[in-house]
Amino acid sequence: MHFAQQGNYMERTREDIISEVRAMVPALSLRMNGQPLVYLDNAATTQKPSQVLDFLNDALKERNANVHRSMYELSDLSTTAYENAREKVRSFINAPARENVIFTSGTTASINLVAACFCQRFVGKGDVILIEGDSHHSNIVPWQIAAERAGAEVQVIPTDVMLGEGRSGKVAVERLAELLTDKVKILAITQISNITGLLNPVGEIISLAHSRGIPVLVDGAQGIVHSPVDVQAMDCDFYAFSAHKIYGATGVGVLYGKKDLLEALPPYMGGGDMVETVTYQKTTYAQLPLKFEAGTPNFIGAASLLPALEFAEYLREGEVGQALKEEEARIKAFMEQTLCSDPEVEVYGTPMGDKAPIYTFNIKGINAGDLAQLLDKMGVAVRSGLMCAEPLLNSFGATSALRASFAPYNTLEEAQKFVKCLERARKMLA
Ligand code: PLP
Repeated sequence: MHFAQQGNYMERTREDIISEVRAMVPALSLRMNGQPLVYLDNAATTQKPSQVLDFLNDALKERNANVHRSMYELSDLSTTAYENAREKVRSFINAPARENVIFTSGTTASINLVAACFCQRFVGKGDVILIEGDSHHSNIVPWQIAAERAGAEVQVIPTDVMLGEGRSGKVAVERLAELLTDKVKILAITQISNITGLLNPVGEIISLAHSRGIPVLVDGAQGIVHSPVDVQAMDCDFYAFSAHKIYGATGVGVLYGKKDLLEALPPYMGGGDMVETVTYQKTTYAQLPLKFEAGTPNFIGAASLLPALEFAEYLREGEVGQALKEEEARIKAFMEQTLCSDPEVEVYGTPMGDKAPIYTFNIKGINAGDLAQLLDKMGVAVRSGLMCAEPLLNSFGATSALRASFAPYNTLEEAQKFVKCLERARKMLA
């Protein structure tokens, strides 16, 4: 499948290119409550291009057979599609080899795998697992469960808000050196926060942790969408992301790991496909990556990562990439001038310039859930609640918030409609 760049940007306007991109994603033409849908919940999940939808449909019709198990042609076709997607993921994140790329059911599953297996092997009583104050629940709770089993403790790198030193929501990286004691066995960080949209200095954090011999897991659930990822340049030890947030199927995720570490970990789940030989007494395990892929995987969903990542590349590269980057800059400037400049609105995550287009906020005296419901009536889909980051939101003094999260296929016009509808909803609730 190939997403050819069509025509010449000199001849096509930015609007032409954006229309072409949006026409590839059928859900963007839906109407909700009688209004054209303005979908601004992309941090939760992205809409899928036709290429992915067709791929899924064709795979179910033409390549539906279990993978890695059989000698017949249909199974070969399915296995090839699954392994082609693994190769696509490998090249997309620049992993050294396919052995480094494990298919899971999502970011959450990838982090749970590392938390359980790493702590079983390397973490004991009195040890420390270090996480970040801006973490999603998926990068908090698995560590708490694993720490409890190991008799270890979870400690947190605070944000400036937690320290009472500011309201930016930035992780206090300057505190890291003193927190990285001999007791710390692993550090779990976030590339881009799903609340603040802020980009953490992952390279700086990783090199500091490595200078103390501490491995680092990066939660890339949002990072994979909004920034190019090169796991070798980043030098992370583990990297986790979900297919559904980057135009792929739900129920599929990726865990990248360095080979020596993955080999040192015990298996996670036992079952078919992850074994070499089995007797009633003892089992020997398959080589990487299958050692961590017990049971029938979501082979059709995983295979759809091939067209999904091709679409992600198409959105990033060449004249399309340039046009969408310009549109994103226009959206960010508009959001800064409107929502973010309103004294009655607190947007969590500043400075505005240096962040992904994710805006989580509260309007003084107005319930976020009520706003979200009214916006829905106007065709605008935004998230409200805790966004699976209760400790971070609580640190800002919020028990719920509204979040508008943009994808590369969103337009300035949609941002304008969102702000206009928000104004109307606000007046209705004032
Ligand atoms: N981490 C971050 C930063 C996220 O934004 C999310 C999803 O919103 C997750 C982890 C969990 O992803 P999933 O539910 O796909 O496993």
